[in-house]
Amino acid sequence: GSNDIEEKFKKELEKHDLTKEVKIVKTGCFGLCEAGPIVIVYPEGAFYSHIKLEDVERITEEHLLKGRIVKDLLYKEAVEEDTIKSLNEVEFYKKQRRVALRNCGVINPENIDEYIAMDGYRALGKVLTEMTPEDVIKEVEASGLRGRGGGGFPTGLKWKFAYGSKDDQKYVACNADEGDPGAFMDRSVLEGDPHAVIEAMAIAGYAIGADQGYIYVRAEYPIAVKRLEIAINQAKEYGLLGKDIFGTGFNFDLEVRLGAGAFVCGEETALLQSIEGKRGMPRPRPPFPAVKGLWGKPTLLNNVETYANIPQIILNGAEWFASIGTEKSKGTKVFALGGKINNTGLVEIPMGTTLREVIYEIGGGIPNGKKFKAVQTGGPSGGCITADHLDTPIDYDNLIALGSMMGSGGMIVMDEDNCMVDIARFFLDFTVDESCGKCTPCREGTKRMLEILEKITDGRGEPGDIEKLENLAHTIKSASLCGLGQTAPNPVLSTLQYFRDEYEAHIYEKR
Ligand code: SF4
Repeated sequence: GSNDIEEKFKKELEKHDLTKEVKIVKTGCFGLCEAGPIVIVYPEGAFYSHIKLEDVERITEEHLLKGRIVKDLLYKEAVEEDTIKSLNEVEFYKKQRRVALRNCGVINPENIDEYIAMDGYRALGKVLTEMTPEDVIKEVEASGLRGRGGGGFPTGLKWKFAYGSKDDQKYVACNADEGDPGAFMDRSVLEGDPHAVIEAMAIAGYAIGADQGYIYVRAEYPIAVKRLEIAINQAKEYGLLGKDIFGTGFNFDLEVRLGAGAFVCGEETALLQSIEGKRGMPRPRPPFPAVKGLWGKPTLLNNVETYANIPQIILNGAEWFASIGTEKSKGTKVFALGGKINNTGLVEIPMGTTLREVIYEIGGGIPNGKKFKAVQTGGPSGGCITADHLDTPIDYDNLIALGSMMGSGGMIVMDEDNCMVDIARFFLDFTVDESCGKCTPCREGTKRMLEILEKITDGRGEPGDIEKLENLAHTIKSASLCGLGQTAPNPVLSTLQYFRDEYEAHIYEKR
């Protein structure tokens, strides 16, 4: 409903002759989806939530004309008796630290001037005028940044490999093919702050010696695609993309490529094939893309959130970035918080924040007084974490040790009413659909696993089914070609690890 609200505000401002004094800025997502549509009025920072069309008149007449904040329309936690709280004092934002999302919900993503006003393109200017490519790579390495797309590979090392591959043509690519059910982190960055990714890709191009970049974004994200295209054109107009950037002789151009909705195209080798216009199917590695990527040339591929951190690392220094987070996982991570949780939305937390803080403080706990049962992280590649582990600090290694993974950042909360066998079946159903069919363990094995799961949930399960599931799961994990197959059994294995009794109840008690 935000578009209608914007239109209504425009009419109200005209009606009251306020168009010169009050500026409407349409931003990307500000994270707190549960409270949307939201309107923030500055300079007071009054945070109005759940705004309906009829509220617009009141905000205009009371707040904008008379300077009186409309308290009953404020977000429930943004007002305490007579005091208006700043957003940093609101539970949802208090423990967050916005690095990748710093401009989302703050600036108009379709206006490059607003990005520039927030220090935008200063990092690119700095690397081009003050740093050598080696300096840039050292800075990224020293920051400890790891890939935010799921694997957690050290970003600086990846840049170093791409830099070290000698060739007359190299490419930079961005994986914006976010496909995990429940994940919308990259979408928000692209919709809310596309220039951050563009700037980072130009920096990466300078660092590894590439003059051409591609952003591979799923076509199901039309707003992200539109804003990216607007941003790329504006950057070209301003001389921040194209030939001889900042008069330094550095050339870098960028193009958007659309994915056609295949989950497997999020896998790096499949993604590169798809950019080349071929059917998106994974191929064995090595050679890794940093050695042989697009059209056989060295290609640096990172995901959207990874890139969104780069300008901040360059501007504030590796030490600043490395001071956030845990020993082996530096910086912040964006999560899409969904499922049975009060504050659904997008959160960015320092690594090392506990699951309990995310679910009960930022997320506001479980609705309707229900009991927390588990949280699923890592999407179809991940697993479930139970109440016993709520105090685990979130980082790459801890989540893997619990049988799950960071993944790209989906976090789905389940309460006592959720059947964990159903959850496992949901994710497996997804991977069966999305398997590209190239290799047998994944193509056939996941199907057989799904059949057994369906048998169990339909009340036709038999003794021995759980063992068959486990056997198949281990075979698929070890024999599949790409990450999709290698991780497809994870939701089944992790629910078996923590909720075996629910599988047994379906089989032996026919529940
Ligand atoms: Fe395709 Fe699955 Fe094999 Fe990956 S593991 S190549 S998705 S069949």
